[in-house]
Amino acid sequence: MSNGTHQIPVAKPVLDEREVEAARRVILSGWVTQGPEVAQFEKEFAAYVDAPHACAVSNCTTALHLALMAVGVGPGDEVITVSHSFIATANAVRYCGATPVFVDIEADGFNIDPDKIVAAITLRTRAILCVHQLGMPCDLARILQVAQQYGIKVVEDAACATGSEILWDGNWERIGRPHADVACFSFHPRKVVTTGDGGMLTTRDAGYDQSFRLLRQHGMTVPDTVRHGSRSVIFESYDEVGYNYRMTDLQAAIGRVQLERLPEIIASRRRLAALYASLLSEIDGLRPPAEPSWARSNWQSYCVSLPPHADQVEVMQKLLDCGVSTRRGVMNTHLEPAYRGKAQHRIAETLDHSEYAQSSSIMLPLFVQMNSEDVRYIVAALELALVRAPELVH
Ligand SMILES: *Cc1c(COP(=O)(O)O)cnc(C)c1O
Repeated sequence: MSNGTHQIPVAKPVLDEREVEAARRVILSGWVTQGPEVAQFEKEFAAYVDAPHACAVSNCTTALHLALMAVGVGPGDEVITVSHSFIATANAVRYCGATPVFVDIEADGFNIDPDKIVAAITLRTRAILCVHQLGMPCDLARILQVAQQYGIKVVEDAACATGSEILWDGNWERIGRPHADVACFSFHPRKVVTTGDGGMLTTRDAGYDQSFRLLRQHGMTVPDTVRHGSRSVIFESYDEVGYNYRMTDLQAAIGRVQLERLPEIIASRRRLAALYASLLSEIDGLRPPAEPSWARSNWQSYCVSLPPHADQVEVMQKLLDCGVSTRRGVMNTHLEPAYRGKAQHRIAETLDHSEYAQSSSIMLPLFVQMNSEDVRYIVAALELALVRAPELVH
């Protein structure tokens, strides 16, 4: 079986002449980093997620670092999170000199199991870093309930969740208002909108926002934009050790176009996901991802759990042979050499569901340029790849 024409990639950003024009405008303006375009992108992103403050940074990993610092995470502290995530989640905790404490995910999804958080709390627990994995909102209501009970701050790793929604007090709200203390977003090309690389922090706390702005630019007390516009001579000072986590105006200008496209991108992703779900429901033993009644995913990735008899690598290879690219399930940080057997993390109870998800699920292609014929082709190829006798698949 072959689609005859081309290889279907797993993801593809939506970029065209509009982004080219935005970058061109910035280049010709002469102001190319953290200037007016960044300020405007922040304003528009804040409006989109309905947050009082949004601060743009170089990527989501740096956003996570600043968010954890702002809520007071430092050396000796513990941060409850998942191993089942891109490694940047746990690394950001390590940047603060703190210890990630890994809690398992739910048996029937890819997000943290809220029931397992309490047992992981110690006197050193400073924060919970929860992840909206693959764009699916995690159970913030229950996570925040535990956090409030124990006086712990909560940071949302919303890297994948731009445009995802959660039912909150009877209303659908976008991830990033934020519902916890800080939310962090990514604009890497693998996410639903991109600036090449890029990140955003949203918060309701003006003090946090202030600290993000200071720390993203070397701890400099007077930003370039203020000095540039000043009619009198002013000197900046550096009151603490900061970082260079700036976003450029080139990125921000592209981000503004991407943000305009976002509602259409999400509508289209949700249509494709719905078609996948209806076609995949016909395949025996296969479990498509499902939204809880209180969540609407942006379907940043479409990750299906394979039937127990299926061999993940074999299925992925057969799909590749049919011209369909896939990826394995979400990685487990604790299994990587950077963490495995090392003391700088702690595992709360077991990570059975996390490990099982990595080795028994695969991500199917999902991007805006796909059509329903592509989805049908991919599902047919998957059905064939799952047939037990390999000689039947040709
Ligand atoms: C992509 C991703 C990150 C890192 O984002 P960057 O912008 O590449 O730094 C962090 N956490 C999760 C869950 C991600 O998927």
